[in-house]
Amino acid sequence: MLISQYDDTYASFREQVRRFAKEKVAPFAAKVDDEARPPLEAYQASLDLGLPGLPFSEAFGGQEGDVFTQIITVEELARVCASTATTISTCWIMMLVQRFGTDAQKEMIIPPVVRGEHRSAWGLTEPKGGSDLMGVVTSAKRTETGWLLNGTKRFITNGGWADWYLIFARTEADKFGIFLVSKDDAGVSFGAPERKMGLRGSPTSDVILENCEIPLDRVIGDPAKGGDYIRAGLLASRLKYAAHGLGIAQGALDEAIAYTQQREQFGRPIADFQMIKGMVADMAMKVEAGRTMLMHAATLVVNQLPDAKKYASMAKVLCTDAAMSVATDAVQLHGGYGFLKDYPVERMLRDAKVTQIWEGTNQIQRLMIAKDVYKR
Ligand SMILES: Cc1cc2nc3c(=O)[nH]c(=O)nc-3n(C[C@H](O)[C@H](O)[C@H](O)COP(=O)(O)OP(=O)(O)OC[C@H]3O[C@@H](n4cnc5c(N)ncnc54)[C@H](O)[C@@H]3O)c2cc1C
Repeated sequence: MLISQYDDTYASFREQVRRFAKEKVAPFAAKVDDEARPPLEAYQASLDLGLPGLPFSEAFGGQEGDVFTQIITVEELARVCASTATTISTCWIMMLVQRFGTDAQKEMIIPPVVRGEHRSAWGLTEPKGGSDLMGVVTSAKRTETGWLLNGTKRFITNGGWADWYLIFARTEADKFGIFLVSKDDAGVSFGAPERKMGLRGSPTSDVILENCEIPLDRVIGDPAKGGDYIRAGLLASRLKYAAHGLGIAQGALDEAIAYTQQREQFGRPIADFQMIKGMVADMAMKVEAGRTMLMHAATLVVNQLPDAKKYASMAKVLCTDAAMSVATDAVQLHGGYGFLKDYPVERMLRDAKVTQIWEGTNQIQRLMIAKDVYKR
């Protein structure tokens, strides 16, 4: 069985991103969390490596980075700063335009995203729910000259900060479309920035659409096929959210390994104590199990093999549950200092929680895995 295409091909790429993360991202991680503001320094620096444009076609200035380079990037960034990983990977949502948009839409949207001049956001969730995709009530009605959008999108990453929003809206009783909405369109407004437990360097707010009329050419592809477009990109996107959890888990493990070797109790480093070794071994196993599952799932997704969907869900659950568990243990291993903001594990624990909630909660992922398991 094909286990993973992940091999030395990506080792130097990983090394490059890891060095960038250590030098240009990590120094600002605590600051953006503390100040609850976007990681502007890291985002700006990431343009030198072309990270905001990583997956886009070279024709638009991108790097055509494949799924493996994308998940490696997200993992290595989240390892030191989950907010930066979110900010940069959210730019990639505009791959939907590259895949299903018109040439004019691609020209308008993608090059400025690649150059870091425009930021992107994705609006699916609503106040009444995020798990039930088909429950979306935001409407898009055809007018003589365009589309009239009404509704509220909740918890939108980059809400108020992004220039362009991909809005998922109901176009018929049981059909949905995806629409390009600019922050400057009449009828668009934003809620107050959410005050969050973690991921505080990633802005989140409501996007409110009140009689927002946009031109006809702002619909992506067929206005009745929005659901299909989302499903087409869902697996690759799920892998990125898995990588985000994995990065947090790896970062927390890094911190735990370093701390337990330098902290002394009873006259020796606490890493000498068997119970500590056992905890660190368990943490390392969770990280490696997550990474192995993620790389295997990515291989299935890239090759469009059967079971890709199940494994992508499994990777999302395994990696994000690892994030929560490993970050919790890393705090424990720091003792009282783990409870202070002076050490990054406190932030990592707060950042880890959302990874189990977004992109299909881990209960929803488990439901999908169970459905597949019972089908056999
Ligand atoms: C920081 C942050 C950033 C986000 N960014 C974005 C974004 O950029 N764009 C966007 O569109 N959304 C975004 N979201 C929204 C996110 O995807 C949703 O919060 C998530 O999908 C869950 O939806 P909900 O909050 O409405 O919870 P609900 O759907 O109300 O679920 C509540 C609880 O019920 C459980 N549940 C629901 N249905 C079932 C079921 N059938 N069986 C078992 N359990 C069930 C859920 O697992 C959960 O535990 C973001 C959220 C956060 C917190």
